Parts: sequence; structure tokens; C-alpha cells
Amino acid sequence: MTIDPTADEMRAFLTMQQCGDYDEFATEEAIYWFANDYHGGQASNLYSALSTGGFRPGPCANGPEDDYLYEALEYEYAGRVSCDQCEMLSINGVACHERGCPNIGARWDKEQGEWIKQYECRECGFTVDKGYSCDCAQSPYPD
Ligand SMILES: [Zn+2]
Ligand SMILES: [Zn+2]
Repeated sequence: MTIDPTADEMRAFLTMQQCGDYDEFATEEAIYWFANDYHGGQASNLYSALSTGGFRPGPCANGPEDDYLYEALEYEYAGRVSCDQCEMLSINGVACHERGCPNIGARWDKEQGEWIKQYECRECGFTVDKGYSCDCAQSPYPD
């Protein structure tokens, strides 16, 4: 999964977020810090947004003053989970797969960047990652 929106995409997105109350400074600031934190190298769109945007941080600045727009960018571009098997929608952070998608019932693992299939433990009903045994099976006091 690559996070690499262009500055124009981010501007259009943030304009929508602000419902006509467009604040150019805050928008450019959010884009700058998002690009700064998430760019994937000099060839990326985000890296070029760093140099082409209208914001230059002060020498002591280390983040946006108002992080509402920054967080909106993170939610839209960095936190978005997509499915490699279907046109999944993420609704309020809950993954909604299309019918028949093999990743239904799997969980998204942020660190590994992949869908982990899960099963329900027959002993205790706990949801466990496939390939791992449930904690209850490792109990030192089996029935
Ligand atoms: Zn899916
Ligand atoms: Zn169990």
C-alpha cells in the first residue's frame, strides 16, 4: 500500500473538508506536514508537494499548529485500509467487503500491511489469527 497523493489531490480533498470555509494557510500547512511525515522518497508526489506547496515552517516548528486538517489527511490517505480482493469500503473504520470476498472475516494488520485470516476457537469461542493456536489451548491446566 503506497500513500502518495499529489498536492492537488490533497488540496481538493481539504477544500471539501472545509465546506466553503477555505483557509489557505491551514490547508497548505496541513499538506506540508503530512507530506513531511509520509513521503516515500524524492520521486514521490508527497515529496514534491513539500517543495511546491505554499507553506514554509518556522525554524522551531515540528508539526501543524491546528491538526484538524492534518488528521483529515491521515484518515483519508494514511489510515485508509483497502482490500486486495474486492472494492472494499471502509465505513467509520469498519471494513465492509463485497460479498464473496475471501478476506471477509480477516483482520487488517497495519504493521504487516496484509489481511490476516482468522478462525473462532472451538474451545472458548475467541477469535484467533489463522496459523496460531488460541491462548486457551496453551493453558498449563488442561481439562
Ligand atoms: Zn475484500
Ligand atoms: Zn480458545
